Amino acid sequence: MTEAILEENEVSESDDTSAEQQHKWVYVFEEGNGENKSLFGGKGAGLSEMTRAGLPVPPGLIVTTEACNAYYDNNKQFPEGMWEQVVEALAEIEKKVGKKFGDSSNPLLVSVRSGAAFSMPGMMDTVLNLGLNEETVQGLAEQTGDLRFALDAYRRFASLFGEIVLDVAHEKFERVMDRFKAQTKGGKDTDLKPEELRGIIAAEKEIILAEQHAIPDDPYEQLRAAIAAVFTSWMGRRACGYRRINRIPDNLGTAVNVQAMVFGNMGANSGTGVAFTRNPSTGRKELYGEYLLNAQGEDVVAGTRTPNPIKELKKELPKVYEQFASIAQLLEKHYHDMQDCEFTIERGKLWMLQTRTGKRTGAAAVRIAVDMAQEKLIDRKTAVQRVTPEHLDQLLHPTVDPDAKAEVLATGLPASPGAAQGEVVFSPDEAEEMAKEGHKVVLVRLETSPDDFHGMVAAQAIVTARGGMTSHAAVVARGMGKTCVSGASAIDVDYSQQQFTVDGRVIPKGEWITVDGSTGRVFLGKVPTIQPQLGSDFHELMKWADKFRRLGVRANADTPLDAKTARGFGAEGIGLCRTEHMFFGDQRLAAMREMILADGVGAREKALEKLLPLQRGDFIGIFREMAGLPVTIRLLDPPLHEFLPNVDELLVELAELKMALRKRKTLADMDLLLDQIDEKRRLLDHVNKIREANPMLGFRGCRLGLLYPEVTRMQCRAIFEAAIIVKNERKQVSLEIMVPLVSVSEELKQQVDLINDVAREVMGEHGMKFDYMVGTMIELPRAALTAHKIAQHAQFFSFGTNDLTQTTFGLSRDDSGRFLPSYVDRKILSDDPFQVLDSEGVGELVRIGAERGRSVKPDLKVGICGEHGGDPRSISFCNEIGLNYVSCSPYRVPVARLAAAQATLETEAAEAKSKQTAKQAAQTL
Ligand code: ADP
Ligand code: MG
Ligand code: MG
Repeated sequence: MTEAILEENEVSESDDTSAEQQHKWVYVFEEGNGENKSLFGGKGAGLSEMTRAGLPVPPGLIVTTEACNAYYDNNKQFPEGMWEQVVEALAEIEKKVGKKFGDSSNPLLVSVRSGAAFSMPGMMDTVLNLGLNEETVQGLAEQTGDLRFALDAYRRFASLFGEIVLDVAHEKFERVMDRFKAQTKGGKDTDLKPEELRGIIAAEKEIILAEQHAIPDDPYEQLRAAIAAVFTSWMGRRACGYRRINRIPDNLGTAVNVQAMVFGNMGANSGTGVAFTRNPSTGRKELYGEYLLNAQGEDVVAGTRTPNPIKELKKELPKVYEQFASIAQLLEKHYHDMQDCEFTIERGKLWMLQTRTGKRTGAAAVRIAVDMAQEKLIDRKTAVQRVTPEHLDQLLHPTVDPDAKAEVLATGLPASPGAAQGEVVFSPDEAEEMAKEGHKVVLVRLETSPDDFHGMVAAQAIVTARGGMTSHAAVVARGMGKTCVSGASAIDVDYSQQQFTVDGRVIPKGEWITVDGSTGRVFLGKVPTIQPQLGSDFHELMKWADKFRRLGVRANADTPLDAKTARGFGAEGIGLCRTEHMFFGDQRLAAMREMILADGVGAREKALEKLLPLQRGDFIGIFREMAGLPVTIRLLDPPLHEFLPNVDELLVELAELKMALRKRKTLADMDLLLDQIDEKRRLLDHVNKIREANPMLGFRGCRLGLLYPEVTRMQCRAIFEAAIIVKNERKQVSLEIMVPLVSVSEELKQQVDLINDVAREVMGEHGMKFDYMVGTMIELPRAALTAHKIAQHAQFFSFGTNDLTQTTFGLSRDDSGRFLPSYVDRKILSDDPFQVLDSEGVGELVRIGAERGRSVKPDLKVGICGEHGGDPRSISFCNEIGLNYVSCSPYRVPVARLAAAQATLETEAAEAKSKQTAKQAAQTL
């Protein structure tokens, strides 16, 4: 199949050549280029690019990724003509270096290196010094006048070929080396004498023979086998596993690079090293790397000897250092990005062996982007696009020190980023108590519920055994910017024993653990962490991003503290203030329960009176913090049972009270207990009465406010009175009241009437006017579809994409954790729709809702709140369909600002490109 397509391409591309011309499977570096990484692989592309730029690169050839794919289509045979092309290209290399492959007096040696389009650990390692046998090794010794070197090269080749091509265990060769090294005076590999090296080579060959293998004598046979081994490694278990995790398709194939060897193991003026053109952990503009003299290939990485920092090369081989430094600069200029290079020095001459874009930490990414823009190496748009949302996230939270040695206890989902540590506790009450006493604690739960909120606040981090990325624990933790790992299913929590077990290992209460919410890992003990630092680079970059973005960015904030954090991160308003979050906390929850359990309007109003000043106080704090920026306040939304104790817990408590009654000592005791039992019973009755089969679809949202108008009244009064108080402080207030869970326009109309009534009342009482807007959440499919009707009563829309996803999929978020992950594994869904907005379904409803709403009110303000507001891909979708803003948790605000800018820049680039193609098409006509 692949081949058929390739052949078609070939014919159409070269219609002026004869039809018999063979497909080109092999390119020498001069023929390749840096752009076509999918054909040449990353390594080959880089080597070609450096060759063309005139840098010192040992000559070589690339067998393309197409050849690899053809190999698999062809029953694991080289495609027709490929081998002949390899031999031909090799002849060209021979000419360039003036040596001959397999020649007994002047042998050419090569390395065989794999190289896919994406750098991929788990692929075949590199075979060095290929072309050696008993004869050519003699030739190499004569050619270089260095027997020791020639034997050293041979023993390396024998073990590499044995290990990589013939699949003999690496340890076996290592043991031989260790045995011989131990016999030398210095104990290092460089102390080995020729006789010892001969002994090593003989021992290596024996090991290979013992496994029924042999290294072919013929160098061409060696090369053939090595190329086939690279192809085979593409489908090896390690490589396939890596691709699955990173979602890299299997049909890309790997290229093979065959390159003339240069030798870093020819004495004290030879060596090998790796270096970054800038510091990859801080971003500082300095060469950063390591080298080893008299060493070859991977000695630096393998830790054979301890390498020296690159700065020392300046003293040891100043000329080479200068040359390398200037090449590094050239490469940066050429690629407009930080490079990660490999080099080898052969008897004082520098050779470049690899260059690629260097991986970097979040801090380095920001610094490098800003520095390069200031150096005019890239423009500001590019700088903004260089930093990924993951980079920023890393920057905003503490991270586990990557150099720390630590034992991973369990791995769950990276629910809320950051790194934190503390003593294990299992109960939220205890978490709170211990925190008050100055302990640092990590709350470990099966899963969490609103009841656990105070414990979550008190904890440094939260770990749950169950639940997904959008479980209660995950959502609440992200909202607070608190580290959380959810769904760590290997953890077996035992509340009664106050311990958890992982793989039979018991972790009792009080043991220290460290939680890495960025990767989902839970470590034993106190692992060192690195604190985040937001420097001037960060602020500069964000300033640029703000210039490029079109979407507004607001935050979901429920408290004055949240509001302050949000503003600190650059939020332009509050897109969602969830009033019910103000009802958790001891005193408040009690008043809330009283309200819910009240018999009749009178009792309810009395309870509401207690809540009013509390709500008003919160709103005052929020309005002050936001200083005139818009604040969208959502009226009470969740089903009431969320505020009540759990039935099972009540039953247990009741049983315990009854037991106590049996054991009572005095009459007074009995009276007290009877009272308590009575109260519990009443509570249980109430809870049972309001229990719903399906609370998510039950008595909640505006349905509450319609049937209990006194609740809406109290909330609006609190909001308006707070507004007046803050305005009297001569501060601006920009107020938006949001009615949740509307499905029928009449629901909104009646709530709006009520809200306007209260506004008039409050204005009258204070003899003062204030502005406010009333709008609605669009979070039910019916609302999206009838948005033109709803918009008649709304001044703004905010898409509640969490509920909209639940109701569009008919899928409860809280129950999805059990099967949604396997849906993603099996590719039924490409992503968890609670994390990444399902643009095809839920997104279509958002698009329809916005369009229909604006069809009656063209300037209707439309935003989204919900978890998707902080997800880069969802933000890009919101940008595309023309929403006004996204709203996300305070700690996600910088990420959203960046993602919004990147979305605009991508659209711009795409438009410019399509304009250009249109222009070109017009010109060719
Ligand atoms: P990896 O992808 O694992 O880095 P490489 O193909 O880059 O593997 O090679 C491994 C090591 O061998 C590197 O240090 C590289 O510089 C060195 N090496 C590869 N080819 C040659 C060569 N032709 N001459 C000298 N050293 C080489
Ligand atoms: Mg390399
Ligand atoms: Mg909702």
